[in-house]
Amino acid sequence: MRLYSTKNTSKFVSLKTALFKGLPEDNGLYMPECIPQLPAVFFQNLKDYSFQEIGFEVCKALFWGAMPEKDIRKLIEKSITFPAPLVSLDEETRVLELFHGPSLAFKDFGARFMAQLMSYFNKNENRELVILVATSGDTGGAVAAGFYKTPGIKVVILYPSGKVSPLQEKQLTALGHNITALEIDGTFDDCQALVKKAFLDDELTERIRLSSANSINIARLIPQSFYYFEAYKQLKSYDKHVVFCTPSGNFGNITAGLFAKRMGLRVHQFIAATNVNDVVPEYLKSGIYSPRPSVRTISNAMDVGNPSNFARMMDMYGSTWNNFKKEISGYSFTDEETKAAMKEVFEKYGYVIDPHGAVGYLALQEYQAENKGTCGIVLETAHPSKFLDDVESILEKKVEVPERLAVLAEKKKVSVKMGTAFGEFKEWLAANKER
Ligand SMILES: *Cc1c(COP(=O)(O)O)cnc(C)c1O
Repeated sequence: MRLYSTKNTSKFVSLKTALFKGLPEDNGLYMPECIPQLPAVFFQNLKDYSFQEIGFEVCKALFWGAMPEKDIRKLIEKSITFPAPLVSLDEETRVLELFHGPSLAFKDFGARFMAQLMSYFNKNENRELVILVATSGDTGGAVAAGFYKTPGIKVVILYPSGKVSPLQEKQLTALGHNITALEIDGTFDDCQALVKKAFLDDELTERIRLSSANSINIARLIPQSFYYFEAYKQLKSYDKHVVFCTPSGNFGNITAGLFAKRMGLRVHQFIAATNVNDVVPEYLKSGIYSPRPSVRTISNAMDVGNPSNFARMMDMYGSTWNNFKKEISGYSFTDEETKAAMKEVFEKYGYVIDPHGAVGYLALQEYQAENKGTCGIVLETAHPSKFLDDVESILEKKVEVPERLAVLAEKKKVSVKMGTAFGEFKEWLAANKER
């Protein structure tokens, strides 16, 4: 497998390089040189494949040459460890639950897979790998859980003190083992600046093998394509066209769906659902892409004003608006509409949907009003209890917190407090290395 940068399509790197670098020097994004079609027999027998076997087939096709088959099989066994069940609201409306992982969001799939892949490619290195992550809450939780107890890898998470929710903080600080949380007396931007400086510091990078668990890493995208096949498999009949509706922020999740379609999955249309941070639905309407600062909404994991994976989608469509529009429809919704949809889904189906999934539900409704007789699958990207206060006040009802999160709430917070000066951070990293 070789990958190119969206900014230079004639220079290639290996999977291992793309994995550890994350971003090419030219600030483009890594893309697979080829997204191969899966064999017809795979689709004929899809019903007989387990979720793990689907992941294995996708990786086998995509990774050719990068990893022996038996190692791919192990990688999948270690990373795909929770299900993605498809729940039926009605004949034309299904919900794909992607929140059965440790941090209750779909990002668990990407984080866990990336951790296992890094551990694999790090095996023959005699130096330990240190992953630095700055987080405003959500990503850090998925990364911490994904890398927890991964051999040969230490994770250092920087988060802004007092600016993440108590439960999010526990996800970062209560695990221990190879996960260390630095509680920075500053903002998220301060945390990010510290991480950036560390990567640019030659003295530090010579002494410590540093890498990042950035959300634009291609290793986070790949496993997200598995569950599009897994959802399709769980449909009982195929007499209607299948459409996928993906609540989107940085558009990684929907890009993974586009990968699945390139590999041969029969998807009639993709629907990009956003909150009022709607630069992509705007682009679909006007052909003009104008990124702008994000605004805060109740579906806050999608508050993105300049989606990083837009470059990947443009690359796939040869930067042509018409090609883009043919495959993706886009809709955006306000918080008021989102709240009303959460109530509607609960009253009509008795199903508790989180704010992100509710935006997806609305987009599917709007699409299906114009396109009758399609079978819609909404990706439910997080468990409603992740947004407990909002969900409980909107539905006027208690929401149960799953055991795996409730257990963390009881555990002790352990963090290292630190200021925003780079010198202090650098010294700590270097000293910590020697211990
Ligand atoms: C990250 C996230 C999204 C957005 O996913 P992208 O891949 O960035 O488009 C949507 N919902 C939830 C709950 C998320 O955590």
